[in-house]
Amino acid sequence: MTLPRSADVVIIGGGVVGCSLAYHLALRGLRDVLVVERDAVGSGTTSKAAGGIRAQFSTETEIRFSLESIAVFERFVEEFGLDPGYRKIGYLFLISDRDDLAGFQERMALQRRLGVDVRLISPEDARALVPALHVDDLIGAVWGPQDGMAGPAEVTAGYARRARELGARIEEGVDVTAVVVEHGRDEQPAAAIGTLVRRDTRRFGDTHVSTFTAGAAEEDVDAVP
Ligand SMILES: Cc1cc2nc3c(=O)[nH]c(=O)nc-3n(C[C@H](O)[C@H](O)[C@H](O)COP(=O)(O)OP(=O)(O)OC[C@H]3O[C@@H](n4cnc5c(N)ncnc54)[C@H](O)[C@@H]3O)c2cc1C
Repeated sequence: MTLPRSADVVIIGGGVVGCSLAYHLALRGLRDVLVVERDAVGSGTTSKAAGGIRAQFSTETEIRFSLESIAVFERFVEEFGLDPGYRKIGYLFLISDRDDLAGFQERMALQRRLGVDVRLISPEDARALVPALHVDDLIGAVWGPQDGMAGPAEVTAGYARRARELGARIEEGVDVTAVVVEHGRDEQPAAAIGTLVRRDTRRFGDTHVSTFTAGAAEEDVDAVP
């Protein structure tokens, strides 16, 4: 494997976040994006995920992020040409403690305000949805019919594939061992990641991006113009 001599952006880690970042940067026109992954794409935490996708979260930020993500899953096949097995099978939280109920109701109010379809249902209604459930000790359940699941590996593969098609490079088997920050001639911090050395910083839209040069060892950082 040969690392490129330079890149505008280096993303460390080819999990779903790194591959999504690479895709979205490439989609916005950055042509020189490099993802370095020490193992294989999607082999980290992403590979351990159950695949649940829900908007039932407790903060406005999480809920808004989830709604944005759900919109992506809804058009995933069209945008990425790959079926991640996305199904809106719903998400059910079971409540057996009265103290927990108040917290759920508070969160439901926030979720509803942000447009999430979430309902408090009876134990009997919960069993109607999942017949194998024991509901004797339940006082209720919270049901989000728009929630669902998809395959984390497939989703990551979709992002990685499109990112590559748009010109991003994803290099597996590259373990980043150090990030060294030095000040260069232009007084901008210069950083070295393993053998990748940042040469300059420039603006891309609202984002600061950096150029990295491969091949220089950490001790060569000072020599980079
Ligand atoms: C469709 C989907 C469904 C999900 N469902 C659930 C769920 O039901 N429940 C849940 O809890 N979570 C779920 N998740 C979230 C999941 O559990 C993880 O939180 C998420 O995938 C983490 O992604 P990541 O890219 O941040 O991290 P990671 O997948 O861990 O990626 C980080 C990568 O960085 C690499 N790396 C680390 N250090 C270095 C280094 N020094 N040099 C080079 N590479 C390095 C690692 O090898 C790894 O591949 C889901 C995710 C998806 C995509």
